[in-house]
Amino acid sequence: WFSEVELGPPVEVFALIKAFNEDTFEKKVNLSVGAYRTAEGKPWVLPVVRHVERKLADNDSLNKEYLPILGLESFSIAATNLLLGLDSPALISKKAFGIQCLSGTGSLRVGAEFLARVLGKKIFYYSKPTWENHLLIFKNAGFAEGREYRYWNPSTRGLDFDGLIEDLKNAPKDSVVILHACAHNPTGTDPTPEQWDQISDVIKERTLFPFFDCAYQGFASGNLEKDAFAVRRFASLGFEFFCAQSFAKNFGLYNERVGNLTVVINNPELIPATKSQFTLIVRGMYSNPPSHGARIVESVLSNPELLSQWEDHIKTMSSRIIDMRKQLREALEQLDTPGDWSHLTKHIGMFSYTGLNEIQSEHMVKKHHVYLLRSGRISMAGLNPSNVYYVAKAIHETVSS
Ligand code: PMP
Repeated sequence: WFSEVELGPPVEVFALIKAFNEDTFEKKVNLSVGAYRTAEGKPWVLPVVRHVERKLADNDSLNKEYLPILGLESFSIAATNLLLGLDSPALISKKAFGIQCLSGTGSLRVGAEFLARVLGKKIFYYSKPTWENHLLIFKNAGFAEGREYRYWNPSTRGLDFDGLIEDLKNAPKDSVVILHACAHNPTGTDPTPEQWDQISDVIKERTLFPFFDCAYQGFASGNLEKDAFAVRRFASLGFEFFCAQSFAKNFGLYNERVGNLTVVINNPELIPATKSQFTLIVRGMYSNPPSHGARIVESVLSNPELLSQWEDHIKTMSSRIIDMRKQLREALEQLDTPGDWSHLTKHIGMFSYTGLNEIQSEHMVKKHHVYLLRSGRISMAGLNPSNVYYVAKAIHETVSS
């Protein structure tokens, strides 16, 4: 049966993690994976998560029965409220609901599957560059074609706003546009509030369907409201849209696969039919989601004291990352490394495009044991006070050679 099966390409980030783990060099540094690390370079289970897990373990009224197909409703309500804000007109007029899905990826997949199979959408647009999984998710969900819209300008190491607007203006009506809600992965570059307004004008003019991907709320700036700005703006402008929320990064719940697909529909009478179609999609895909992570998030979001502890944790993580941006830039400037490194502190969130090209990035891995994607993307969370100077020297040698 299997003799005709072709070897597929490796998933770059997971291949790098494997290579890093097998590398015996003492000073090796992993800047590939998008996961938070402490200043000691260790993974971090948030204290509020540990606290809630202990409570859940001791709660005899909880059991392991199936959740409903669309997940734990109290979780998806709390997640939707967190995204849109309690004063959101979409929430007040009952135009929004959430579906618990398998982290950000699963939320994107369920939403994309609905758009392709129920609404018959054929074309999706993604930023150039984007998180590489968007393509696979949307293609596998049934979309016929993915097209790029310009996003990154290598010469300014910032947003190619004119290119973005031009490409969206040329998009066929009814196309779906994937938008990163905040902390764009991989570039670390977001539109300004004024630019978001211009983007929304084009989306309206061309009747495109916005699909937000929100993987970093609170994690980017340390402020939950600020990071939800774009999504909330679209809601207040009366758009119908989807938003895939991940709690992997901001709760450190990577492997628990906690996510929520927020759906905003202008006519609430259409919600029961819409939910029924989502129910069929999920039923045929994985039947129903797991409960553990959703219970943790719901417990924190619904308790003001735990919520404020979580907000403190988010600030701890985001400010450590912002600090590492500064330290890396300072070290490169101190070394007089050729080029302008100011983009490192202008970027936001976990990632930055360093500007290193493919050959230079591979050189960093081979010669210096500093693991980063071929695109030159680095995860700031992998830096810490003990390795930042080593990384700066590696970049210096690489771009000078
Ligand atoms: N979207 C973007 C842009 C991401 O960076 C990530 C995480 N790398 C995700 C979605 C989803 O991740 P997960 O499925 O782990 O929640």
